[in-house]
Amino acid sequence: MKPGKVYLIGAGPGDPGLLTIKGRDCLALADVIIYDYLANPVLLGYAKSDAERIYVGKTRGQHSVPQDEINQMLVDKAAAGLNVARLKGGDPYVFGRGGEEASLLHKQNIPFEVVPGVTAGFAAAAYAGIPLTHRDITTSLALLTGHERPERKLSSLDWEKLATGLGTLIFYMGMSNLKTISEKLIEHGRSADTPVAVVQWATLPRQKTLTGRLDEIAALVAAAKIEPPAVIIIGDVVRYREELRWYDNLPLFGRRFLITRPYAQAASFVALLQAQGAETICIPTIEIAPPTDWQPCDAALNQLWSYDGLILTSANAVDAFFERMNIMGLDLRALAGVEIIAVGPKTAKAIEKLGLKPDFVPDDYRAEGVVNELLSRGVSGKRYLYPRTEIARSLIPDSLTKSGAQVDAPIVYRTLAPEGKQEMIRHLLDADELDAICFSSSSTFDNLQAMFGAELQQLKKETAFFSIGPLTTETIRKQGFEVALEPEKSTLEDFSEAMVKYYQNP
Ligand code: SAH
Repeated sequence: MKPGKVYLIGAGPGDPGLLTIKGRDCLALADVIIYDYLANPVLLGYAKSDAERIYVGKTRGQHSVPQDEINQMLVDKAAAGLNVARLKGGDPYVFGRGGEEASLLHKQNIPFEVVPGVTAGFAAAAYAGIPLTHRDITTSLALLTGHERPERKLSSLDWEKLATGLGTLIFYMGMSNLKTISEKLIEHGRSADTPVAVVQWATLPRQKTLTGRLDEIAALVAAAKIEPPAVIIIGDVVRYREELRWYDNLPLFGRRFLITRPYAQAASFVALLQAQGAETICIPTIEIAPPTDWQPCDAALNQLWSYDGLILTSANAVDAFFERMNIMGLDLRALAGVEIIAVGPKTAKAIEKLGLKPDFVPDDYRAEGVVNELLSRGVSGKRYLYPRTEIARSLIPDSLTKSGAQVDAPIVYRTLAPEGKQEMIRHLLDADELDAICFSSSSTFDNLQAMFGAELQQLKKETAFFSIGPLTTETIRKQGFEVALEPEKSTLEDFSEAMVKYYQNP
């Protein structure tokens, strides 16, 4: 059998955006993914859904799979005709044992490719604000391991050359030997006041950077209890961090938020928060499901021409309604002459994506806004179609009907509480690991409340509750909880901006 190909892919240092395009393409064509502790598991999302995923890194209390076994696995899988992605943290050829794996593949006549990655030392420097070389200060750079094979002691390094013959030094895996490293360098001629930066979990929202003089850094690291993975950057270039840091002073850096919307709708909010440096954890407390009965919606679709207006109050309603239209064999022409009303910009965007333009969006992005705007235009004798969720308020149908309109309000989707999320959320709350939970609708809160009942008060501890708007706030307050933040306008952009302000002036 023709063997498959093995791709040794550098996953980059952690931030998933730092994978190369070629790395992503290779992941997408692999049948098997073999990945490490330091490769961000988020990247597995690029793999085929039926690709086999094999984790060979450390697990709690256990060592990683021995290198021999990994080697054998690469050979066996490729020999069976499968394409294999070997995903390694950083760059495969920088302290990653990629060379050993490639040699073995070469010996076994298995074709392979190496896709470089952003190595941790370079990434740490960039994200900590340290130019590794600088015309005015240093023209050379060395990458070193501070944790060599046991049989070859650190002392085998030529300390004199390292101390005096090179500019910037980056040590990988050096945390347990930091004291020895700094002592040796000083002993062999590096100045004791050389600045040093230790960067842990570089490029991730939990990145920590500690700086100090060469003669004090080991004590500082011990006091701050900084553990691996971290790189140690030694040299005068470290001084530039003061003026060049840009990542760990983003306004939401170091904050961790729980996002409760369904995955499909969380992406844009997550992107907004991450752009401000925040760490986001998505555990949806609602799930979108079809209605139990499509008949009322289908009846309305069969007489779309008879409506004067179509009222849409969420992107979910837009998606569900138009998907159903499609299933019923209708296209956008069926809406000719029907006025389209969107409750706010997000809903409008969902409509525009379909190639339609809403006729208006009220200034007040709520059901109230829609009603007021329509009433001011006159609704008497008109027919409206309002596809909605099961738990929508009756404000729109009630107010319009009272003023002489006819409103059909078929259910086009339901929001359900997903199963199996409780334990993850309980752990995060209990360990006090969240700064806040962001609620983007009443149901995201109601379902959380339903998961824990009365226990929620005591689980909550220091975690703040943030609400997207007045209705959600009311739902939360009714259950006796405080709402720490509500943006002036109920859009995700305003929500994330309000969060930035909240932490700037607490
Ligand atoms: N091939 C990898 C290095 C693997 S050796 C690369 O090119 O980056 C493992 C060491 O890499 C860790 O002990 C640590 O020193 C460093 N490292 C990896 N990821 C890191 C990260 N996100 N932040 C800081 N150091 C990291």
